[in-house]
Amino acid sequence: MNYRKFIPTILYLVVLFLILSWASGLMSGSSSSMPYSQVIELFQQEQVKSFVVNDNTITLELREPVNGRTQIKTNLAQPELFRSDMEELFQEQHEKGILESYDFIPAKSFSVYDIILPLLIVGAVLLILWTVLMGRMNGSNPMANFGKARTVLGVPDGKKVTFDDVAGADEEKEELEEIVDFLRNPQKFTQIGARIPHGILLVGPPGTGKTLLARAVAGEAGVQFLSISGSDFVEMYVGVGASRVRDLFEQAKKVAPAIIFIDEIDAVGRKRGTGLGGGHDEKEQTLNQLLVEMDGFGHTEGIIVLAATNRPDILDPALLRPGRFDRQIQVNAPDVKGREEILKVHAKDKKLDASVNLKTVARSTAGFTGADLSNLLNEAAILAARADRPVLTMEDMNEALMKITAGPAKKSRVQTRKDLKETAVHEAGHAVAMYNLPTHDPVRQITIVPRGQSLGATWYLPKDDSSNLTRNEMYEQIVSLLGGRVAEALFLGDISVGASNDIDRATKLAKDMVARYGMCEKLGTVSYLDGGEVFIGRDYQTTKSYSEKVAGTIDDEVRALIDKAYDHCKQILTDNSDKLHKVVDFLLEKETMTGEQFEAIMQGREVGDASSTSMFDGFEDGKEDPKATEE
Ligand code: ADP
Ligand code: MG
Ligand code: ZN
Repeated sequence: MNYRKFIPTILYLVVLFLILSWASGLMSGSSSSMPYSQVIELFQQEQVKSFVVNDNTITLELREPVNGRTQIKTNLAQPELFRSDMEELFQEQHEKGILESYDFIPAKSFSVYDIILPLLIVGAVLLILWTVLMGRMNGSNPMANFGKARTVLGVPDGKKVTFDDVAGADEEKEELEEIVDFLRNPQKFTQIGARIPHGILLVGPPGTGKTLLARAVAGEAGVQFLSISGSDFVEMYVGVGASRVRDLFEQAKKVAPAIIFIDEIDAVGRKRGTGLGGGHDEKEQTLNQLLVEMDGFGHTEGIIVLAATNRPDILDPALLRPGRFDRQIQVNAPDVKGREEILKVHAKDKKLDASVNLKTVARSTAGFTGADLSNLLNEAAILAARADRPVLTMEDMNEALMKITAGPAKKSRVQTRKDLKETAVHEAGHAVAMYNLPTHDPVRQITIVPRGQSLGATWYLPKDDSSNLTRNEMYEQIVSLLGGRVAEALFLGDISVGASNDIDRATKLAKDMVARYGMCEKLGTVSYLDGGEVFIGRDYQTTKSYSEKVAGTIDDEVRALIDKAYDHCKQILTDNSDKLHKVVDFLLEKETMTGEQFEAIMQGREVGDASSTSMFDGFEDGKEDPKATEE
């Protein structure tokens, strides 16, 4: 390619740029000139509401239009003179409220950047054009491949995944079985005129195995697996995303039967017309192209599109219409049985000591996803390897669980006696509050050994997998979260930043109660939040679905709720101050305290030696399920 023919274009661009910047400079300086005497007159007639003098330009805001305008901008030959002449009048009018505001911005000192900056910009533009052109000449243009989809064809690590690798997701697998059947044997379905879904949406939180399931479908059916992430479609250049979509479907048709897997589809599939500023046309084009492609392939081509998201509510409705992603499969975090099965799958390639009871581990990890469990076993294996143990013990599992839920123990961190005392009082505050709240889960363990970000931790034991909290339970959680801060205030006479995470969480809970779950009388059973977390593109239009007045009430109610919880907590801790101090003394001496020992103190019994400080205590024969920590 002959780059010389671009030189006129470049020159043209440079000239255009210069003209534009010159013109914009003129525009901003343009003023409707007005004689000085007339300006003074406006002041004397008390016409001026406010004004700003910037360098030697004055901008006046008028009460009534003069020559049809209420804003007048004009030059002052001698701004200093103007100021000294009129200062008295300004002050007088300002005091009377005639002149609402006025300001003198000092003259801007001349700066070299005023000259250098535009030069730099022009230079940068030229440089970019130059690189692109040179790249073209050498045939290594980075933009040449822009329109191609960054698809991963086949399974990344080359390992075939089957349904056996996906543990505990029985219902999900059952629903997907049908798709496998179709991919294996399409005639069976098409002969009797059955319509097979084009697209299936896997909906669920991160780490629950959506990607794994999609790969397993391809593996079971023995078809090609093309995967791409939604964010790969999103580029700043208009048209690139759309051409990537086209390319993706072309590739799939070539290797059909195949599964196309679009991860994080919400990155391209957001509701249209909700973008903020630039780039949203590009997204719409990409989405439109996706819709066109999904309509475009026949039922006989053997292509099925699977997509994953955890925000189906923000997807464009057109994506969910029949013939597109008209089927949703919910992929949830596993239950106890599922967790045990997942642990078994991931334990297969690890050497476990006889002490390891996966059933117990499953019971004490409510709320963990498949990815969390796989991570747990891996952490335990790393701990075992670091200690040069040939097998992985239950002690490793325990340490790994504590590490995951509260960060690794930092036994070596130097803590002064004062730090330790503060931490002990803080944690004891949480624990004593929890003990005295009827709906709160019992304390499992307390420690002042620093872990991760936090200086100490109080673990408690959720009753079950259920996430359906009642109003009372939520309120009592707020009370227990405040326990640390209240104890500091009551018994240390000063408060620390150690409670900031607690306060964040308490505030969030209170906000949810008031504005999301309709749990406050004043505001009624109304949700003022639109679909949960803030999503700029959409919330921009919908946040104002309630009035300023309601917003004020929400703030007041949140505040009132927290204040009530604070007082409640203060009452509990004051009533139990002697026991709290016993807990503090115990922690200072032994650093870690089991739930059993804690209860003994609270009930005024003799405190025995800890039988064990394992996170798995009480789960061996388990009726109850668990998780979580709290700093
Ligand atoms: P998602 O796509 O939903 O975020 P992934 O499919 O990427 O989750 O899961 C991440 C990892 O977690 C998988 O590679 C796998 O090791 C593990 N995992 C998740 N769910 C399961 C499951 N049901 N059975 C076995 N392993 C699982
Ligand atoms: Mg994934
Ligand atoms: Zn705390």
